[in-house]
Amino acid sequence: MAGEARDACGVVGIYAPGEDVARLTYYGLYALQHRGQESAGIAISDGQTILVYKELGLVAQAFDETVLQSLRGFVSIGHTRYSTTGSSSWDNAQPTFKTSPAGQIAVAHNGNLVNSVQLAGTLAAAGGDPTPAGARLNSSSDTDLVAAHIARANEGDMREAILKVLPKLSGAYSFTMMNEERLFGARDPHGFRPLSIGRLPGGGWVLASETCALDLLGARFIRDVEPGEMVTIDANGLTSESLARPRPAACVFEHVYFARPDSTLMGHNVYATRYRMGQRLAREAPVVAELVMPVPDSGVPAAQGFAQGSTIPYGDGFVKNRYVGRTFIQPTQSMREQGIRMKLNPVREVIEGRRVVVIDDSIVRGNTTRQIVAMLRDAGAREVHMRISSPPIKWPCFYGIDMPDQDELIGSRMEIEEICAHIGADSLAYLSTEGMLEATQVPKEDFCTACFSSRYPIPIPEHDLRDKHVLESPEHQAQAWPTNRS
Ligand code: SF4
Repeated sequence: MAGEARDACGVVGIYAPGEDVARLTYYGLYALQHRGQESAGIAISDGQTILVYKELGLVAQAFDETVLQSLRGFVSIGHTRYSTTGSSSWDNAQPTFKTSPAGQIAVAHNGNLVNSVQLAGTLAAAGGDPTPAGARLNSSSDTDLVAAHIARANEGDMREAILKVLPKLSGAYSFTMMNEERLFGARDPHGFRPLSIGRLPGGGWVLASETCALDLLGARFIRDVEPGEMVTIDANGLTSESLARPRPAACVFEHVYFARPDSTLMGHNVYATRYRMGQRLAREAPVVAELVMPVPDSGVPAAQGFAQGSTIPYGDGFVKNRYVGRTFIQPTQSMREQGIRMKLNPVREVIEGRRVVVIDDSIVRGNTTRQIVAMLRDAGAREVHMRISSPPIKWPCFYGIDMPDQDELIGSRMEIEEICAHIGADSLAYLSTEGMLEATQVPKEDFCTACFSSRYPIPIPEHDLRDKHVLESPEHQAQAWPTNRS
């Protein structure tokens, strides 16, 4: 995959009187850096005023010691961003902040709403953004719309305002929010994006997109925020409210690629899930070879599982340059084609003369995979067999993962044999949808699989489908998503 699809964001929330809350938020964001590298921000309150600091770049670039020392308070939220709506600019960095006569609010969002046009319409009809700067939105992000709606609905109790607004949202959201004194967390009724609750050793509370952030903070995992649940954390502890009946449709791609392997999603460690995907792939698509190797880093657990399942020795045929990040100086087209060489270098001594099985988590456009195969042949591989630990991606995501338009997805344009010829491999096989879902050990009805199946849990508006060059109507677009069985 090597970064051809990107997660929208990572969110953190901390409520910990007496602790260095800004630093805790910073470390939480640091653990979630893989979920967004475009900007990072922290909002913090001392009980009187919310201060927001946000900057373009990686977490470590956005904050330094002086900034962290200036951020004082006991409640905070943090955000690391890769945009799915709105352009890449400082205005669109989060947390987003609003004031209203009844108080202040800051919002950090992981996900993507599918009814932002309606939300903008109702806000305009109600008189626009209540922020004193003027009756307009600060940015083009859907998060700003949500914050503006909440600020407008706030008549003195922020919790009630949030409870009024969130049921009007359609799409994917895991929010951390705060006013001057309280921390809030909420997940949409489908629970597309993760959000976990932890407890610090000193009794403070943590909300985080992934449990790896809790680990870094030394926090104990308590539980996930449930789909359709809102939690409020303040001096009285945690209280929970239902926003809507849960209709689970968690993003299965979090398990395949996006989440960190040391995180636990829906009760299951991500590394172990990917390992099982590799074992299953070895059973479904066996191959005669001398070496199993991953496309690092995301292909590593599945490659180890494939090696175990196939009894073919595992080896690291690529060395990854870990210091290549997203750069603000976009490479030229010709450099982009060479881009993968900046990240990966084959180890000739491991590859030469061998039949190699290469494990990756997915193929998006196919260009990266084609370059990988060519590099391995240049390094002397006798045969190159690609095995992919998820099914072909055929449909774009509208729920918070940035994917190319449908006509750029190689899985929607070509059959598997054609893809194999295009990437120049000796063979190509994908894990079945059933194999992928079984490897998660979670009931398969609890997942969104729309990018593989076109079974979108929430119907996508026509204009969004057109924007992503979706030509045919998705097969299951009109079909109602089943309600929670429990
Ligand atoms: S469409 Fe794919 S990437 Fe998007 S939420 Fe569903 S499973 Fe995840």
